[in-house]
Amino acid sequence: MTTDLEKQAKERGIKYFLISFTDLFGTQRSKLVPAEAINEMAKTGAGFAGFATWLDMTPADPDTFVIPDPSSLIQLPWRKEVGWFAGDPWMNGKEVEHAPRNVLRRQIAAAAEQGLQMKSGVECEFFLVGPEGDCVSDPADRQSKPCYDQSALMRRYDVIAEICDSMLELGWKPYQNDHEDANGQFEMNWDYDDALVTADRHSFFKYMVRSIAEKHGLRATFMPKPFTNLTGSGCHAHVSLWKDGKNVFSDKKGELGISALGYQFLGGILASAESLAALTNPTVNSYKRINAPVTLSGATWSPNTVTYTGNNRTHMIRIPDEGRFEVRLADGAVNPYLLQAALLAAGLDGIKHARDPGKRLDINMYTHGHLVEGAKKLPLNLLDAVRAFERSTVFKHAFGTEFVNAYVKLKTESWNEYTRHLSKWELETTLDC
Ligand SMILES: [Mg+2]
Repeated sequence: MTTDLEKQAKERGIKYFLISFTDLFGTQRSKLVPAEAINEMAKTGAGFAGFATWLDMTPADPDTFVIPDPSSLIQLPWRKEVGWFAGDPWMNGKEVEHAPRNVLRRQIAAAAEQGLQMKSGVECEFFLVGPEGDCVSDPADRQSKPCYDQSALMRRYDVIAEICDSMLELGWKPYQNDHEDANGQFEMNWDYDDALVTADRHSFFKYMVRSIAEKHGLRATFMPKPFTNLTGSGCHAHVSLWKDGKNVFSDKKGELGISALGYQFLGGILASAESLAALTNPTVNSYKRINAPVTLSGATWSPNTVTYTGNNRTHMIRIPDEGRFEVRLADGAVNPYLLQAALLAAGLDGIKHARDPGKRLDINMYTHGHLVEGAKKLPLNLLDAVRAFERSTVFKHAFGTEFVNAYVKLKTESWNEYTRHLSKWELETTLDC
């Protein structure tokens, strides 16, 4: 049954629709389509020249058509005459294999074949900065330990409350907002859901935060490490796996309330961590957040080793509660679709091979990590991560060679572009060599 989107538009007062897709670098691309044309466009898809986006295509390739997913419709709370769709790219009559939302949908289908469904929630941290991005937006926000600072939070009440009101209106069930550990940094939390719903919301959230911040004369950034001396922006993901409406990670008799299956899934994520980082920490800047020296607040809150623990925030994976765990690796630059797809793929591989995560470590990794023998380190830079990803049979099998080749090619190009830049540090340390 097709949905009459034009009729829905009339009922809800929508004049235009954004038909969007997210490319390999996490950028959202859109066509703005009048409501009168939406039914036809929903059938044929909105046309894009793939090469003009980060999709690893050529100028000679035919049109990429993006088919909107009717279930993803969001009416912009700050501009109600516009509706937004997440869409799925097609070319030559078939789905574009390496388009991130298609990659996630395939992982979800692979899980469904085993009767499994991943649910997840994300904790998006972001900074409100000045127009050039070189300072935080609030000059009074200068405490060395600014986390949960009530006054700094309330000085940004207008923008934070408008974003939270929007989430309430959209039915996302937001439940808390705070000032985070860096000056100018905030986090907003909403309820967990099915992985695809969370990915669509995560993607839209980034657009919404930027848009509402702009409305208030501010600039929002999810850049992983915008200031070297301050804590970076992470994107922690809480995951659980469900079967027949039951959380199959949950086991009251299991260690910390996690089932044997849950530990296998966790073991899969640990086993793929180095290659996973190419997706969860996808930029040159990402590696200035993980492996970082201590920040002004006293901690980076980001992992540097491939380890897991109980309710302890110094490891890559934390088990805070029965029936779920938190992956603390990803950062603000992560592609919302590839985050969910990568966790699911690595986790399913863990189940398939009954991967053992080993014993958890109940130590402060920031102070005692060097005493742990054999703890694997996370990649030190993007190139190491991309090379690990290129070698990964887990991701080649799960995502397909088309995705792996496209991603490795574009990310290697990013790395090469970065290395062509001369930094102030290089001049200072090498000029007199
Ligand atoms: Mg946080």
